[in-house]
Amino acid sequence: MDRDLKAREQLKSTLTDDMSYLGTILNAVQTGILMIDAANHTIVYANPAAFQLIGRPKELVVGAVCHKFICPAEVGKCPITDIGQTIDNSERIVIDAQGNRIPVLKTVVSTVTERRTYLIESIFDIRERKQREQRLLAERVAAIAECAGMVAHDLRNPLQGIAGAAYLLRSNQLSPEKRDEMLRVIDQGVRRSNAIVGDLLDYSAEIRLKLEEAKPKLILQDAIDAIEIPENIALNVLADDQTTLYVDIDRIRRVCINILTNAIEAMPDGGMITVTSRQSEDKMEINFTDTGVGMTKNVLEKVWSPLFTTKPKGMGFGLPICKRIVEAHCGSISIASTEAKGTTVTLNLPIGHANGREFA
Ligand code: ADP
Ligand code: MG
Repeated sequence: MDRDLKAREQLKSTLTDDMSYLGTILNAVQTGILMIDAANHTIVYANPAAFQLIGRPKELVVGAVCHKFICPAEVGKCPITDIGQTIDNSERIVIDAQGNRIPVLKTVVSTVTERRTYLIESIFDIRERKQREQRLLAERVAAIAECAGMVAHDLRNPLQGIAGAAYLLRSNQLSPEKRDEMLRVIDQGVRRSNAIVGDLLDYSAEIRLKLEEAKPKLILQDAIDAIEIPENIALNVLADDQTTLYVDIDRIRRVCINILTNAIEAMPDGGMITVTSRQSEDKMEINFTDTGVGMTKNVLEKVWSPLFTTKPKGMGFGLPICKRIVEAHCGSISIASTEAKGTTVTLNLPIGHANGREFA
C-alpha cells in the first residue's frame, strides 16, 4: 500500500516534470507549433512563435479556423483531412495581421487521442531564404541578359564583316589584291567569332583537361599565329624551349591568346610585349610584360570577375577564363600592374610528365 502510494507520487512528479519541460520547450522554440481539431479545423493550441508569425494575440488565434491564417484558399483541400495524406511537408503561406503573405515551411501530422483526431502543425518562417533565392535568381537573370547582349553585340561585328566581304566577292569584279583582302576579312571574322564562342563555352562548361606534353615555345607560337599583332607593337619571345609542360595544349593556347590580346589592346599607340619563362622545381613561370596603359588599383581588384571590362567592346571574360583554365591545371595566374607604365601577367604551370596524374 505504502509502496503503491510512493510509486504514484513518483509518477505524478515525473508527469509534472514532463509537462513543465514540454511547456518550456514550446514557449522557447522558434518554430510555430499549432494543434488543430481535425473535425472542424479550429485551432486549439498555438505556441508563442506561432502567434508571433501570425501576428495576432492568442485570443484571436485559438478558436479560429486554421484556413483563416494558414494555407488560405485551401479550404476543402487540406492534404491530411481532405486528401488523405498522413504527413504533409510543404511550402505554404501564412497571412499575418497586416495581410502580408509570409512563406513558411509547414509540416503536418495527424494524431488520434481517445476522443478526437488532431493535426499537429509546425510552421517555420522562410522569408529570408526566399528573398535570398529571389535575389540570386534576379542577379543570375540580369547577368545572363547582360552576357547575351554583349555576345550578340560582339558577334555582330565580325558577322557583318563576313557578309560584306562575301557580297563583294560574289560581284566577281574584284582585282586579285582586293579578293585576297576580302578573304582575309572573312578569315578574321571567323576567327573572332570562334574566339567569342570559345570564351563562352570555356566559361560556362565544366573544364575537362586533355593533358599532353608540350613545349611552351610552340604553344606561344601557335597563340601568336592566331592573333594579329599591329605593326607598332614589337613582340619579344624569350621563352625556353627545353622544358616540357604537361598541359591541355588548346586550353593553354587560349590563355596565352587572351593575355596577349589584352596586352595589345592596352597599347593603342604601340609598345612592346616581352614573354619570358623561368623554371622552378615542378612549375614553369611564364611572364607576359607589356608597356601599355596599366591598371588602377580599382581595376586590378576586379579583373577576375566575369563580365568586368573597361573596354567599349569588351566581354570581360578573358581573364576569368584564364584563371579557370590555369587553376584546373593546379597552376596559378597573377597580375602586377602600374598605371601608365605597363602590366605583367605571370602564369605558373606544371611541368614534365606526371604519371597517372588526372585533372578533372
Ligand atoms: P576584356 O578584355 O573583354 O575587357 P578581360 O577579362 O580580358 O576582359 O580583361 C578585363 C579588364 O582588365 C580589361 O577590360 C582591362 O581593363 C583590364 N586589363 C586586362 N589586361 C590588361 C593589360 N594587359 N593592361 C591593362 N589593362 C588590362
Ligand atoms: Mg580580354
